[in-house]
Amino acid sequence: MLDLDISISALPGVGPKIKEKLERVGLRQISDLLFYFPRKWEDYRNFTPIAWCRRDEEVTIKGIIIKVEKERTRLRNMMIVKARVQDETGEINAVWFNQGFMERMVRANQKVTLHGKVDFDWKNKERVLASPILVKEEKIVPVYSEGAGISSKIYEKIIKSALAVADNLEEWLPDEVKEEHDLINLAEAIKQIHHPSSFEALNAAKLRLAFDELFLIALSMAEARAELKKEKGLPVKIDEELLKKFTSKLPYILTDAQRKATWEIIKDVERGRPMNRLVEGDVGSGKTVVGTMAALAVINNGYQVAWMAPTEILARQHYKNVADMLNFFGIKIALVTGNLKEDYTDADMIIGTHALIQDNMVYKNLGLVIVDEQHRFGVAQRSKLRNKQHEDRMPHLLSMTATPIPRTLALALYGDLEISIINQMPEGRQKVKTQVVSPTDRQKAYDFIKAEILKGRQAFVICPLIESSNSKIPDGQIDLFEVERKSAVKEFEKLSKNVFPDLSIGLLHGRMKAKEKELIMNDFSKGKINILVATAVVEVGIDIPNATVMMIEGAERFGLAQLHQFRGRVGRGKSQAYCLLFSESWSDTTKLRLQALVESNDGFELAERDLQLRGPGELAGIRQSGLPDLKMASLTDTILIKKARVSAERLIARGLNRYPLLNKKLDEFEHSRHLE
Ligand code: ADP
Ligand code: MG
Repeated sequence: MLDLDISISALPGVGPKIKEKLERVGLRQISDLLFYFPRKWEDYRNFTPIAWCRRDEEVTIKGIIIKVEKERTRLRNMMIVKARVQDETGEINAVWFNQGFMERMVRANQKVTLHGKVDFDWKNKERVLASPILVKEEKIVPVYSEGAGISSKIYEKIIKSALAVADNLEEWLPDEVKEEHDLINLAEAIKQIHHPSSFEALNAAKLRLAFDELFLIALSMAEARAELKKEKGLPVKIDEELLKKFTSKLPYILTDAQRKATWEIIKDVERGRPMNRLVEGDVGSGKTVVGTMAALAVINNGYQVAWMAPTEILARQHYKNVADMLNFFGIKIALVTGNLKEDYTDADMIIGTHALIQDNMVYKNLGLVIVDEQHRFGVAQRSKLRNKQHEDRMPHLLSMTATPIPRTLALALYGDLEISIINQMPEGRQKVKTQVVSPTDRQKAYDFIKAEILKGRQAFVICPLIESSNSKIPDGQIDLFEVERKSAVKEFEKLSKNVFPDLSIGLLHGRMKAKEKELIMNDFSKGKINILVATAVVEVGIDIPNATVMMIEGAERFGLAQLHQFRGRVGRGKSQAYCLLFSESWSDTTKLRLQALVESNDGFELAERDLQLRGPGELAGIRQSGLPDLKMASLTDTILIKKARVSAERLIARGLNRYPLLNKKLDEFEHSRHLE
């Protein structure tokens, strides 16, 4: 008997070979197949008149075959079957290469429906339909991603037999929610998504499945929020005089945006409920000082503060900067990383890497945890912190990120957080001059870097790879599409041997040991290294005020937000800074993206453009945000996100125990997220 939780091997057509392949892409049981949605749908009922068939378009034509021919190409001795098809508007050849059997499938005077891509036959100077499919049923057909090297047709066939058990799918969405948003049943949606009876039905199916994805996210966020509200927090009394003294010792005046964010944090912690707040602010907008003030306020109440950085390098840098700022106040700070563990038992503040929330860390009275360069505390992190509670009270959480997320997305991503935005740069900050450099001007760029270094400045060279990918080209062949991918190791060698033999060049990448990295960073920050060749490891946070040039190789391989981050590494000092972009691709999207970077210095604006140009999946920060992969829903669908959110909040407020099936589904969803 087929059922949802039975192995796919029970399906006709799934032998051991196909089974193994499917399992490799995570399709194990029949229900997995039901949720393997088509990538797109083709309408075999919608015919393009032959006269309208344009090159590179995918079309379905319907006509009569007037002639069939078979020939061999002279050059590569390929067998070609050609069928001349005619409709009221014109004629076109359908051609099949090396598919001799097609000769038996088509004959003159046969009425056919064909689907394929329009190409151009340079020899006969006319359009052709290249290797089209002979359409047997005129309907809407699903097209599946050919994952695991299995063709769409095979997926279609297997899934069709899997659909026999679709009716066994549990309907977990409460009727009231379905009615409210006009959603169809789950089983019906699954059937229609694989075999739509009409586009209307297909759209209804897409809507239901998209809603499901967003609704589960919204539910788990609403739940997290409700749960945090239930926790007891630590009331923090604010000593305004102390904070005033702190700001008066700073060598600069806080921006209004910094003040506002600090104020929001202080109001939060004063209330005594556990805070869960995200500070979003562009690179260099001065988030560290905001975090430091929050820390000072909390420490002043006798609690400890843990400050987590994504890398050891950053942790050290914070250690130094924050210690400088807090020096006057007699605050004890300890550094704890994977490699080094200072005694922190009596420390007021412990700065470090993720080592800070490992099980072996014991805090006396943890009051505030700050995570830098991260969007949020993951559920797992939060539950680790729960074990470190002080007198059963949840510490306040503050995350800080320089990856701006457009407002439309923030709604979906951060439903469980309060958000503060620092949308203002400290005064007098110079704009980094940004330029896309054509490959022919490479030498000029090197000359420019040399000139800057002679002025006493330093430069970064960022490469997309650590080592060259050794994709081998067979002897005697030239692969036109093989472009040189810049690797840090190769560039380092080239720059130190050929281009700048008399300068000191350093290399930094993620595969180096922490100790080596630290040594290099130290040398760079002391000015012993003139040019640092690095991979994306320098992306977050490193502060070298003396660096004025950021040269980026293979810029098309990075997201806009990421490029903006790199650029933010320079221009932190008083001198004019420059960002030079090199690209290995000149596609329209690349041009648009790099141009956007040249034109704008505003991280939020760039994130918005990236969203338009590449879609949410590519947006830096989304992947690390802990969102599950969305198959049907779009993060740009603000309206549906809102609907899901409103319903989710209502149901959570009412209590999920009134909806046992939904509750179970949510548990499964959260469980699968933790495993990711
Ligand atoms: P980010 O937001 O990227 O973490 P940082 O906190 O590292 O930025 O701050 C970047 C630099 O700006 C630091 O050197 C810091 O001392 C300086 N800075 C912060 N706030 C101000 C301000 N209001 N005016 C001038 N400089 C500031
Ligand atoms: Mg920072």
